[in-house]
Amino acid sequence: MISRRRALGGLAATAAMAGTGSGSSMAVGADRSVIVIGAGIAGLTAARMLHRSGIDVVVLEASGRIGGRIRTDRSMGIPLEAGAGWIHGPDGNPLSRLVTATGSETFVTDDDSLEVRTADGSIVPGQEVEATEDRLQDIIDAVDAVAEPGAGLADVIHDVAPGALDQPLLRWMGSAFTEFDQGGPLHLLSASDFDEGAEFDGADVIVNGGYDRLLDPLRRGLDIAFRTPVDAIRLLPGGAGVEVRAGDRTWRARQVVCTVPLGILKQGRIGFEPPLPDGHRSAIARMGMGNVTRIALRFAAPFWPVGTQYFGIVTDPPGRWCWFMNARTFSSRNILIAISVGSYPAIAEAMTDEEMTADVMQVLRGAFGSAVPEPLQIMATRWSREPHALGAYSFSHRDSSMDDWHMLAKPIGVALHLAGEHTSWRHRGTTHGALLSGRHVARRILDQLAR
Ligand SMILES: Cc1cc2nc3c(=O)[nH]c(=O)nc-3n(C[C@H](O)[C@H](O)[C@H](O)COP(=O)(O)OP(=O)(O)OC[C@H]3O[C@@H](n4cnc5c(N)ncnc54)[C@H](O)[C@@H]3O)c2cc1C
Repeated sequence: MISRRRALGGLAATAAMAGTGSGSSMAVGADRSVIVIGAGIAGLTAARMLHRSGIDVVVLEASGRIGGRIRTDRSMGIPLEAGAGWIHGPDGNPLSRLVTATGSETFVTDDDSLEVRTADGSIVPGQEVEATEDRLQDIIDAVDAVAEPGAGLADVIHDVAPGALDQPLLRWMGSAFTEFDQGGPLHLLSASDFDEGAEFDGADVIVNGGYDRLLDPLRRGLDIAFRTPVDAIRLLPGGAGVEVRAGDRTWRARQVVCTVPLGILKQGRIGFEPPLPDGHRSAIARMGMGNVTRIALRFAAPFWPVGTQYFGIVTDPPGRWCWFMNARTFSSRNILIAISVGSYPAIAEAMTDEEMTADVMQVLRGAFGSAVPEPLQIMATRWSREPHALGAYSFSHRDSSMDDWHMLAKPIGVALHLAGEHTSWRHRGTTHGALLSGRHVARRILDQLAR
């Protein structure tokens, strides 16, 4: 599992894809109707399934576009992913059906095409990288054997392998593989649960034309009210349905599906009346919302080996621009995508674009030499500051357990359903987890409405 999603990534972006919705403002009443909050892949999937079954459904979306944490930026002349970048394990993955449906082409990324450098530019021999990976895997196996619920991964690693995390290459791997994959820092990850979950088979792929294209079939025919940030959900007494408010506008329906990200729920951005049950509230409080920061840099000419898929740089502090994806492997553009993980996104995302660029350039010049020129163009992501995301994806926090994800997947009364990646324990933090959660909730609602 440690290297399962080590290439998890995408790119930086600043521009939002402008949405074009119907802008419904008063879809009131309507028996058998459903409100879906959020036009990410979970919300679109649920809404599309309901719509296709003849259910009157409206989607309320806070931003001006669909996709949520799927966002493709084209300002550098090629599709670059600000959010989800990979289809993890395409075999049997529901995203692969969307690839087919949209006639998209994919590119298989090669996790083994990796060059690791020290911060001062020495190339770490491949055998040393492999030996360290084996050592990390042994440590993870030892952690799995002893970890109790409630323990943090870094603490348990310290117990089973004292001093291991002081070794720069091993600590780098903890960031580049584990923190990147999981979305949270080692000291906060649950030692007992962090690597639990399910995967599909097959080497990870990226979508040549852009991940956002995969959403086209899902949005077809949907009534989406953009720029509609929901602030209250009220369950009407006696099972009479729900009332959803966004500013001074109100919608009523029999059922509501709320797919806003965990970060939004944690911040209490939506008021629930009556309040969410204790079990849901404590699960939301315990679960981790992680972050990953990207900055894409376009250069006039490559100063790196153009055939190598990934570069790892053993930076300090851990997680600081520790992973670079080389866009020359799938395009003709001289673009490197720098990624920071673990505790570093909190530092990186407080920086201005200029500061972030200078920070990455310091790392690149250390690793590739002082002659590395300034980039021509950059794009930076700051998911923790995106008002409708507040983070990248959920992670198994040391205070949480899989029961928390399962709890969020349970309906609240007969009318309120949560969906989204944070309700899928087996596939948390992924697009397919989000899609499957939307499908699951739509099926449940269809069953209920059929009764
Ligand atoms: C940097 C990054 C890299 C990633 N890499 C990968 C990857 O390579 N592969 C992979 O499978 N997954 C990846 N993921 C995870 C994946 O993107 C998410 O798991 C998935 O897109 C979540 O979908 P969702 O529908 O649950 O939530 P979202 O996509 O977040 O959709 C929720 C929607 O709700 C809207 N909303 C929020 N608040 C309100 C409100 N009050 N009222 C109305 N609407 C509201 C939001 O605007 C958003 O459109 C990555 C994510 C990030 C951020």
